[in-house]
Amino acid sequence: MRALCWHGKNDIRYDTVPDPGIEHGRDAIIRMSCCAICGSDLHLFDGFMPGMQSGDIMGHEFMGEVVEVGPDNHKLKVGDRVVVPFTITCGECDQCRRGNYSVCERSNRNKALADQVFGHTTAGLYGYTHLTGGYPGGQAEYVRVPYADTGPVRIPDGLDDEQVLFLGDIFPTGWQAAVQCDIEPTDTVAIWGAGPVGQMAIRSAVLLGAKQVIAIDHLPDRLSMARAGGAITIDFEEESVVDRLNELTQGKGPEKCIDAVGLEAHVTRSVDSIYDRAKQAVMAESDRPHVLREMIYVCRPAGTISVPGVYGGLVDKIPFGALMNKGLTLRTGQTHVNRWTDDLLRRIEDGQIDPSFVITHRATLQDGPQMYRTFRAKEDGCVKVVMRP
Ligand code: NAD
Ligand code: ZN
Ligand code: ZN
Repeated sequence: MRALCWHGKNDIRYDTVPDPGIEHGRDAIIRMSCCAICGSDLHLFDGFMPGMQSGDIMGHEFMGEVVEVGPDNHKLKVGDRVVVPFTITCGECDQCRRGNYSVCERSNRNKALADQVFGHTTAGLYGYTHLTGGYPGGQAEYVRVPYADTGPVRIPDGLDDEQVLFLGDIFPTGWQAAVQCDIEPTDTVAIWGAGPVGQMAIRSAVLLGAKQVIAIDHLPDRLSMARAGGAITIDFEEESVVDRLNELTQGKGPEKCIDAVGLEAHVTRSVDSIYDRAKQAVMAESDRPHVLREMIYVCRPAGTISVPGVYGGLVDKIPFGALMNKGLTLRTGQTHVNRWTDDLLRRIEDGQIDPSFVITHRATLQDGPQMYRTFRAKEDGCVKVVMRP
């Protein structure tokens, strides 16, 4: 089959690789119909994430048709149309039973390696580093789905691929980021980053009834998409984010702040890698990590900071004193996708939201290497790329 494979920093190739097969009784094989590139894939593309190996199949946002099921899988049938959550979950461990799917205790098959390198583990993830299990990803014609009797979400007829594809990651991710803010009708929610995750967080904060939603970025197309979703926008290159947020909140600061940027904040500040950044930190400690520090500074005391943005390990310095003295709540994590999918699928069916608004580029898998460059450079008005085989 053909797949998009990682061969090093800035080097994604359209390769021929062996087809996957059933390895365990609960597995299923999916023929991919539609997949997307995520901001998290850019951390691999940028070479920020340790534990990648040449030839690894990329991609964790995908859906398709079930073409084979293992003998112990009593949920899926050949022909089912499913969206696959990016977090692999066993459905049986203590964390899965608590709904904390992204920290499933069993699905990361390289737990010992991850513990050794990171000092912690997450659930297994598709198309990501070997520290999260090294599972082949979904930017491929076929994908093996482990524990396929728990994760995949069956899609009813009548909804097209593009309406439901994002149930596997960015819609629940933006939603969880907003839910973790415990939004009150009097709240201002400020969202740093108007990429795909930020866009979903904006729409979610509006759906959850925030008084005012403010989006911060510097890319004109993303800012206008944010305005179309109901946000007031701040271009961080044109004006002071802190001053403008204070002005929009009568000097109080936003009650709720969402970081939908993550490692990208280092990229926009022209630093080659987070490790270079760590070295520079001794000299430029005051602005690193930029977005988080800005949020902690401007957030209204007793407010909440919600961080879906991905960070790389133990290198970032957080001004904990300010966080403590302002009595802020900090909530973060990889998304517990299956916690939200039933509710969000219903909201799509009801017509409350059509997450396909975020798609700006449609391509084939073969165009993938160029699409990575376009999405990385954020050129040509690119917000979200969807690819078909
Ligand atoms: P993206 O790279 O397309 O978007 C990031 C946006 O942040 C860009 O529009 C960029 O211009 C903006 N930005 C950069 N520096 C900024 C700054 N200083 N202030 C304000 N905005 C700034 O990525 P995305 O797909 O939207 O993903 C965003 C983050 O969410 C990434 O870190 C990704 O890894 C993470 N993510 C997390 C989960 C999860 O489960 N927690 C899931 C998906 C994605
Ligand atoms: Zn993702
Ligand atoms: Zn589990």
